[in-house]
Amino acid sequence: MPCLQLTVLGSGTSMGVPTLGCHCAVCESADPHDKRMRPSVLLSYGGHNVVIDTTPDFRCQALRAHIDRLDAVIFTHGHADHIMGLDDIRPYNLKQKTVIPIYAAPETLSRLRRQFSYIFEEGQPGSTLPLIELREIDGPFDLFGLKVIPIAAMHGAQPVLGFRFGNAAYLTDFSTVPESSKALLRSLDDFILDALRYVPHPTHSNVDQSLALVEELKPKRAWFTHICHDLGHAQTNARLPENVRLSYDGLEIEVRA
Ligand SMILES: [Zn+2]
Ligand SMILES: [Zn+2]
Ligand SMILES: [Zn+2]
Repeated sequence: MPCLQLTVLGSGTSMGVPTLGCHCAVCESADPHDKRMRPSVLLSYGGHNVVIDTTPDFRCQALRAHIDRLDAVIFTHGHADHIMGLDDIRPYNLKQKTVIPIYAAPETLSRLRRQFSYIFEEGQPGSTLPLIELREIDGPFDLFGLKVIPIAAMHGAQPVLGFRFGNAAYLTDFSTVPESSKALLRSLDDFILDALRYVPHPTHSNVDQSLALVEELKPKRAWFTHICHDLGHAQTNARLPENVRLSYDGLEIEVRA
């Protein structure tokens, strides 16, 4: 099986951690694991780099992870914390002299067309725009030899997509997972999933709900993401089962793909 390296580019919730103006123990923690950029992962395999979501921190994340080329972007959904870094893919267009394919569900593509309308309009002469090609996700697809399986879930009242690739899956920003999707999340080695905080939230899974899903689906390892400042890295890990950890920015996982 070819090897794929997954890198967590950001493990934080929409506001990031530290959160602006907050002086709680986690926001003021000296532990680098408590510094969380907005949620995204990088998939590197066969010389290709694919990111899931382009967060408002995308530029800093790409610098930190030394992303020297970008071959595709997959979007989970259209919320600001997952898409607002899209403009920053331009240097890769210029360096690679290529259009970058963007994969997303139809409603997310519509959001991108609205949010980034300037990309799709007549440009000002001399201005640099992201060069992208929108590709609608309507089922499993091949991406440079990797089979990517979309996993439909609900994020409050709005649909969201998670993705499975080989023995790993990434599912952020969900509150419920339908049975048909659970069937696609069995026999995982690594499951990276939303766990915002302890307190219930209308559109996000919390620690107890995510632990219950892990217990049901039985991945070998689970990694929580989209984490807010309620959860300190060391203190939370000390309370979690051994096969469940908080992810952190820079975490690297080898995936059998
Ligand atoms: Zn989010
Ligand atoms: Zn705080
Ligand atoms: Zn969201």
